[in-house]
Amino acid sequence: MYTLGIDIGSTASKCLILKDGKEIVSTSTVSVGTGTTGPKRALEEVLKNAKMAIEEMDFIMATGYGRNSIDIADDRMSELSCHARGAVFLFPNVKTVIDIGGQDIKVLKINSQGMLENFVMNDKCAAGTGRFLEVMARVLEVEVVELGKLSKQSTKEVNISSTCTVFAESEVISQLAKKTEIVDIIKGIHRAVASKVAGLAKRLGVEEDVIMTGGVAKNEGIVEALESEIGKNIRVSEYTQHVGALGAALFGYKKAKKKK
Ligand code: ADP
Repeated sequence: MYTLGIDIGSTASKCLILKDGKEIVSTSTVSVGTGTTGPKRALEEVLKNAKMAIEEMDFIMATGYGRNSIDIADDRMSELSCHARGAVFLFPNVKTVIDIGGQDIKVLKINSQGMLENFVMNDKCAAGTGRFLEVMARVLEVEVVELGKLSKQSTKEVNISSTCTVFAESEVISQLAKKTEIVDIIKGIHRAVASKVAGLAKRLGVEEDVIMTGGVAKNEGIVEALESEIGKNIRVSEYTQHVGALGAALFGYKKAKKKK
């Protein structure tokens, strides 16, 4: 039995095909999200990677901010439930999920039955999100995918006091004018993000195992800064950006089994 999870975020479109509720067959990522051609392209790509046709999918579950725009979906679920479900599948002992996406930060508390118990979210602002890091990378003239590696080369502590995109941008420009090393500025940016995310997480209480999900967890500099801020290890799956799509495919499997 094959189920397809489609996660349409604000910034990226992700798909994942799951076989029999346990084996990941294929994934795709397109770096544009809802309201763009991203969802259609991600869908074409995941099917092409799996050498399968849409008719072979037993259930299609959509999630994410743009889930209502997918008319081929059999059903839709919130990204909170899907991230929790995907994280529990990958890390059965997870108690805290920290999801940083393109425009939001969510912290989920998972109970001992592996169910979502509570959550907190950032307000409607890009502070400390993937978008914030993309703007900072642009000002520093580096690629967002290089931030983690570059921050590892830092030798000097630089304080970036704000995660407001506008204020931080002017702080970064003034550091550049002072000829501060780019790698040190990046590490300062990571610490600022970590401090904001940890503040949010502490409102819920951070219990181990702590898992990070979402595209920003691919930045190892952010993961490291957050580990030191919360004083706990953080685990990240190679499927970090697909955890929501995985959760959707898992819920889809449950529904498909009921239908048969
Ligand atoms: P959403 O679901 O909100 O659209 P995602 O969880 O897909 O967001 O994450 C998108 C964010 O992840 C983007 O801001 C992007 O810059 C960041 N991202 C994706 N890949 C990487 C990477 N390799 N290194 C650092 N950041 C990344």
